Amino acid sequence: MRKIKIVPPVCPLCGATARYIDSVAVYGTSFGMMWLCPTARCDSYVGAHADGRPKGTLAGPELRKARRDAHAAFDGWWQRARISRTKAYITLSRVLGIDDAHIGSMDIPQCEFVVAIFTANPIRDRETPNQYVRRLAARNSTLSTHAVRAGTEIR
Ligand SMILES: [Zn+2]
Repeated sequence: MRKIKIVPPVCPLCGATARYIDSVAVYGTSFGMMWLCPTARCDSYVGAHADGRPKGTLAGPELRKARRDAHAAFDGWWQRARISRTKAYITLSRVLGIDDAHIGSMDIPQCEFVVAIFTANPIRDRETPNQYVRRLAARNSTLSTHAVRAGTEIR
């Protein structure tokens, strides 16, 4: 069997190294393993893949809500657009100007940016993800302001 060395993730709120625990401790029911910040007031955690790798970065309540909102906006967008999940994530990465974008790794400004973009700018009929991104990038300063705030750049 191949052994994967996993570096325990760090809590972005307090800097403590997360503990690898069964999710029953947080949810009351086990949904597998997770990474939890040992500092109780952080209430900060992230799920784990079967091999133990964290599914993104640890998040406290505020960031978890921001990620849920971003997911709702983004999933609604690509499902209405009838494009594949894969294409949707490529588009998301291009819009944010980062490689291999995942909402589980985003911070609050990035989540807010995702909500602003994908809620306010639905993809048009027959528009490809590339055309969509180009249309957004060519447009108003609000988008670039959001991008700057989110620390990213539309390209
Ligand atoms: Zn913490």
